[in-house]
Amino acid sequence: MKDFLYQAQSPRVVFGAGSLQHLEREIDLLGARRALVLSTPQQAGAAQAVFDRLGPRAAGLYAQAVMHVPIETARAARAEAARLQADCAIALGGGSTIGLGKAIALESGLPIVAIPTTYAGSEMTPIYGITEAGLKKTGRDPRVLPRTVIYDPELSSSLPVALSVTSGMNAMAHAVEGLYASDSNPILDLMAEEGLRALAKALPQLREQPLNLNQNEWTQVGEARAQALYGAWLCGSVLGQVSMALHHKLCHTLGGTFNLPHAETHTVVLPHALAFNLPQVPLAAQRIARALDLPHPGQAATGLYDLARSLGTPLSLRELGLQERDLDRVCELALTQQYPNPRPLEQAALRQLLQMAYEGIRPGAPD
Ligand code: NAD
Repeated sequence: MKDFLYQAQSPRVVFGAGSLQHLEREIDLLGARRALVLSTPQQAGAAQAVFDRLGPRAAGLYAQAVMHVPIETARAARAEAARLQADCAIALGGGSTIGLGKAIALESGLPIVAIPTTYAGSEMTPIYGITEAGLKKTGRDPRVLPRTVIYDPELSSSLPVALSVTSGMNAMAHAVEGLYASDSNPILDLMAEEGLRALAKALPQLREQPLNLNQNEWTQVGEARAQALYGAWLCGSVLGQVSMALHHKLCHTLGGTFNLPHAETHTVVLPHALAFNLPQVPLAAQRIARALDLPHPGQAATGLYDLARSLGTPLSLRELGLQERDLDRVCELALTQQYPNPRPLEQAALRQLLQMAYEGIRPGAPD
């Protein structure tokens, strides 16, 4: 048992199918009266429904959230919140919408009620990101951690299957890196393993989701959606409380500098980043193998690759639009950043990892 430091840090969590019905109660508990509802343009319909149901508690609707929180969008949303004299923000959506809420809270301290509809996990973290002049800057600030999170699996049911499964793999990446984080602790290890288990079970069921559900099928899908969201909560909690390593740094570079899609990039890179670190992290490997029901810890990375393949996700950076000539630059950027990683970052091994991820080769063993 290694020494550790643990400090509980969590929003209030309301979980359950239909729990959106508690939104008014949660706003009242914050002492708020003028809510600004946030969403992307794609989810404007769902956000309008939330705005409508809030009646006098709703101050406005701002459906302009976009990926990576451009500073211009952040400024416009802050101005709108000030103009409407909003005293809380309701962020309905994935990491992009919750990220916009965080950008407002960072400056004004406005409390956020997050209603996540993907599995990315931003709602459980004090991490914010804002993109200015093409560069995404991230930081941690307790002010941006949502005060309340409403997890309603019914709201994630509209998430397309392809995005559901990659978003779920994105969540799993938080747990995997949490298990070998330099500042991990036994409580978060438990959460990470349980989060991995819940997602590894739920995602294949979501993948099978029939298009026109009968009542019995709907019950099963509803349970899988609940399991996936439960896993996302646990994995997001891990992300919020320990430091991430190589995998997240690579994905940050690939998303920020090369504009690759967030959840898909995590899905492709994860097995390779884990394979790179695997020899140095036997306890994490044991937990991952147990969660994925694999016979041997040495199969943790291939197990994740096989899971992704069975889910029909992209498996290579090439498919995501990266050019092979960019691999050297990604490698260079990964080596210039300083952060703890279980295995030292040697140039040749890292470049090989990137080549494998680019080509989508199964890590560890030829297939
Ligand atoms: P997203 O929020 O960009 O959503 C992707 C698309 O799916 C959007 O068009 C969105 O409107 C739509 N969508 C979301 N839920 C839906 C639903 N239930 N039904 C129909 N459509 C739906 O995607 P994401 O992967 O959740 O978030 C990615 C962003 O979040 C990235 O910018 C990433 O850096 C950030 N992020 C931040 C943290 C953090 O802790 N700060 C954690 C994870 C991700």
